[in-house]
Amino acid sequence: MNPKRILVVGAGHVGLYAALRLSKKLSSREAEVVVVDPQPHMTYQPFLPEAAAGNISPRHSVVPLRRELRRCKVVAGTVTRIEHDRKVATVQPISGPTREIPYDHVVVAPGSVSRTLPIPGLHEHGIGFKTIGEAIYLRNHVLDRLDVAAATQDAQVRRSALTFTFVGGGYAGIEALAEMEDMARDALRYYPELEPEDMRWVLVEATQRVLPEVDRDMGAYTVQQLLKRNMDIRLDTRLESCVDGVVKLSDGDSFRSDTIVWTAGVKPSPMLDATDFPRDERRRVTCLPTLQVVDGDRVVEGAWSAGDCAAVPDLTKEPGNFCSPSAQHAVRQAARMADNIANVIRGRQPVDYKHKHAGSVASLGLHKGVAQVYGIKMTGWPAWFMHRTYHMSRIPSFNRKVRVVVDWSLAFFLKREVVALGQLHDPREEFAEASQPR
Ligand SMILES: Cc1cc2nc3c(=O)[nH]c(=O)nc-3n(C[C@H](O)[C@H](O)[C@H](O)COP(=O)(O)OP(=O)(O)OC[C@H]3O[C@@H](n4cnc5c(N)ncnc54)[C@H](O)[C@@H]3O)c2cc1C
Repeated sequence: MNPKRILVVGAGHVGLYAALRLSKKLSSREAEVVVVDPQPHMTYQPFLPEAAAGNISPRHSVVPLRRELRRCKVVAGTVTRIEHDRKVATVQPISGPTREIPYDHVVVAPGSVSRTLPIPGLHEHGIGFKTIGEAIYLRNHVLDRLDVAAATQDAQVRRSALTFTFVGGGYAGIEALAEMEDMARDALRYYPELEPEDMRWVLVEATQRVLPEVDRDMGAYTVQQLLKRNMDIRLDTRLESCVDGVVKLSDGDSFRSDTIVWTAGVKPSPMLDATDFPRDERRRVTCLPTLQVVDGDRVVEGAWSAGDCAAVPDLTKEPGNFCSPSAQHAVRQAARMADNIANVIRGRQPVDYKHKHAGSVASLGLHKGVAQVYGIKMTGWPAWFMHRTYHMSRIPSFNRKVRVVVDWSLAFFLKREVVALGQLHDPREEFAEASQPR
């Protein structure tokens, strides 16, 4: 028989794990696995806050696709369209004209993008926190703002530079805020011109609590810890505008802030709009517990989806509940999906995905954390230690695990690096100036 072509759209948590497993389970006579992603790496997003804080080298929180997926064909490009009735995907390679890739099975895993609102000024002044580029930028930007504040004589410029605003109190927002504040506080040791009290770290959260992934008491504990660190926590408050960097909140307060980080949730990849897959009211691809795409009660043969872009029924809860968008579900769904695709190719029945969400672990800076796993609640150092050991065990490949542990160990002995490499964001500036015709 001819090998089946399995096209994997997106090599994130779902795509990388599914491709890896498929290429190990199926022989080259059974299947060819083609992976398309514009990035040359998978980003282990739970490590972004630590990468931004300088505890881990950013390079070590990503997993190179070509090294990990040696038995797959990796295409550097973006899938711009999927016509499943023809079983063809259109790919825009990172260079050159678009091309069509026919397939027998497709794994739809482009994940999600930041869910924004039409808030005046947000497009111009905000930044998300979902990519390695954003994490690196934020780190350099925060350290750069300390330099600006230390250098200026202007009180308003200084206040604006030292005001850091985060919008959204889920785990991404809380971890980013807490880790960045911890890093900046650490860095202030080298800035005799600045005091920790000069910094203002603001969290704006529209609901009455943070960390909805854990119980209320754990969310309340987190708020208390952040308040103890002098952070300005605004619950039940919305960002109304941030035109020219002037933050206006729904509680009437207004202040200048050079840093506005948007971490208020995600929505499925907009690429799905250019496909013929069935979607639910939240624009997710509708799936069966087997991870097969389903249209009403008709299984869409050869189409599979999982992760942030998919509505996968959560069989551990009442009917009508779906798995949350988390790495925890994504990697487990990927494994189930790969096994199911192999089953179907070999003429066997697919099996339902069922996993009870184990809970969440969040780091609140060095040696600080909050965790609730299988009902067991932990705070402080034990929670932080659990966060590190859990994610270290989860990041794909032995190579990455070793590098991450070495980074942590080095930071323990040598202290973390707190230098801004802001020039990274405009590397040609100096050469362009030097080579300017006079
Ligand atoms: C800061 C942060 C911290 C987090 N911490 C945790 C945590 O502690 N625990 C937890 O369980 N979850 C955590 N998450 C959530 C978790 O990372 C996501 O739920 C998970 O990454 C979803 O996996 P995915 O495969 O669906 O998407 P992703 O991992 O985002 O992968 C999507 C991939 O698709 C690619 N892609 C996108 N569009 C296209 C296209 N058109 N064509 C081809 N490729 C495309 C992207 O480049 C990307 O590689 C965190 C998320 C963030 C942002």
